Amino acid sequence: MQLRFDTCCLSRNASRRYIISVSRSALLLERLGALIQQSVREEAARHGLLPIHIQVLHYLARANRYSDLPIAIAEYFGITRGTVSQSLAVLERKGLLTKEPDAAHGKRVHLRLTPAGATVLDDSWAERLEQALGGLPEEAQALEATLRRLLSGLQGINGQRAFGICRHCSHFLLEPDGARCGLTGEPLAAEQTTRICREWTAPKAVQP
Ligand code: SF4
Repeated sequence: MQLRFDTCCLSRNASRRYIISVSRSALLLERLGALIQQSVREEAARHGLLPIHIQVLHYLARANRYSDLPIAIAEYFGITRGTVSQSLAVLERKGLLTKEPDAAHGKRVHLRLTPAGATVLDDSWAERLEQALGGLPEEAQALEATLRRLLSGLQGINGQRAFGICRHCSHFLLEPDGARCGLTGEPLAAEQTTRICREWTAPKAVQP
């Protein structure tokens, strides 16, 4: 009986310590994450898909040509290559994406959204989030910098790639004849420079 009482008190104390140690910022982030996950689940159900299918379509709509690859999807979401293959097979079967061979790299395939795939993303949670952020123009810049530092810190702890926007990468070069990737030496089309990249490296000034 005594033992049960002690265990109960211990667990109550541990729970109190947990509640006290979670900051309001962490709770807000958790709440935002839960709201986004709920929206993704609803979107997926509307289209007869799983949440990961919707997330993969969102990712591919934003990924650059070094990142529209199955391996990059596995890295971005922290899922296995097998899960990625299954998801891609479903999306391809439903006509929402196509696979295009890379002219320069043998077995590599680039994943492209079809017009039907792009339509699935209309009126998505991401658009609603953009609208909400649009109502906070004053705070948006500071919020972005804070979130970027927080994300970099967590990704460093988890040993994950950062996946930042190309034109904010330390390898990004703007030359008289256009943009160039300093890592691969290849020219970058303007529309590629606003996309996310698995090779992204934080400039020194924004590294945590
Ligand atoms: S500049 Fe950086 S983000 Fe852009 S393509 Fe090169 S490695 Fe990727």
